[in-house]
Amino acid sequence: MTPVPVPAGSPYGRDNLPYGVFSAPGREPRVGVRVGDSVLDLAAALGDDRFAQPSLGGLLARGRAAWAETRRRVRAVVDGDPPAYAVLPLDAVRLHLPFAVGDYVDFYCSEHHATILGRILRPGQEPLPPNWKHLPVGYHGRSGTVVVSGTDVRRPCGQRRGDDGPVFGPSTRLDLEAELGFVVGTGSPLGSRVRTGDFDDHVFGVVLLNDWSARDIQAWEYVPLGPHLGKSFATSVSAWVVPMAALAEARVPTPPQDEQLPYLAMDEPWGLDVELRVVWNGEEVSRPPYRETYWSPAQMLAHLTVAGASTRPGDLFASGTVSGPGTRERGSLIELTWDGAQPVQVAGEWRTFLEDGDEVVLTATAPGPRGSRIGFGECRGRILPALPLEP
Ligand code: MN
Repeated sequence: MTPVPVPAGSPYGRDNLPYGVFSAPGREPRVGVRVGDSVLDLAAALGDDRFAQPSLGGLLARGRAAWAETRRRVRAVVDGDPPAYAVLPLDAVRLHLPFAVGDYVDFYCSEHHATILGRILRPGQEPLPPNWKHLPVGYHGRSGTVVVSGTDVRRPCGQRRGDDGPVFGPSTRLDLEAELGFVVGTGSPLGSRVRTGDFDDHVFGVVLLNDWSARDIQAWEYVPLGPHLGKSFATSVSAWVVPMAALAEARVPTPPQDEQLPYLAMDEPWGLDVELRVVWNGEEVSRPPYRETYWSPAQMLAHLTVAGASTRPGDLFASGTVSGPGTRERGSLIELTWDGAQPVQVAGEWRTFLEDGDEVVLTATAPGPRGSRIGFGECRGRILPALPLEP
């Protein structure tokens, strides 16, 4: 027996088994599972051609019983003796966007984030809007510009407020937002609702997500309909989808909530003890704790379907910027630098927002069984200079 090698302490052991899509040189993309520093070729390892596809879409659509059965089969292969041709070194493959993103909604679930932004943007006023504790606020994002980790991000151009009216040019306040994204597997029909108690029948897993944000474009455009071009140019996600089944040990209660309308009440805890890390040009600048997030993913899904919206396999909804109470627990630069007024030292330089050539890497871990850790891969992106103003 020669099980797949897993380095001691690796957060990609048999308790995790995240799914992705990879290609070996000269081969078509197909579904794989990360084990240690290797990728298990699922079609080859399981003898199942349904995984010889460039997307997790088929697996997502097959539903919760099939997810459990697949996980059981993968674990048996990992514990056993997979054929050598089904195990590839991670550094020898290319990772792709793991599923075709359907509808994409981004929420605003962290009370710490929403409060700090309220103080920065509306000083002297009540920081939280009056609806904030009654519903998870969100907006529809652009699914077609969700890109996989490692994809470069070009600095957007757009309108921003100037002294004598709007000016057009490259964003001067390009920011990151460290978030978790939730991947819908089993959809729900138009005119139906997904109750909080049915969350794990519908949601397959979790990705890391960076909601790149051009604060100057956003500030000028967002009243009254919310973010548009300030966030539509790119949203990065990790290449690995950590199944909800790997996060059983990470489940925790959300922070205490005010009384909710009945459709948002939860019978079981759906907070998650995931610790994110924000690395900017090689230096860790923040550790946002997802467990501090006010609204849970079960409440996000219940809210986004309560008016009867359908969901489909591959829909994505994200938490909004994850921030904790500490100054080094904030998941965006607008918070970490107090809107640019308090620069932070990054790799020996005082910095506020992102400059061309900067690289941001999000990572995260969560508790697994028997003291193990669950890793989420990484969500990496480098900023390219803006396109020239004239075509
Ligand atoms: Mn966001």
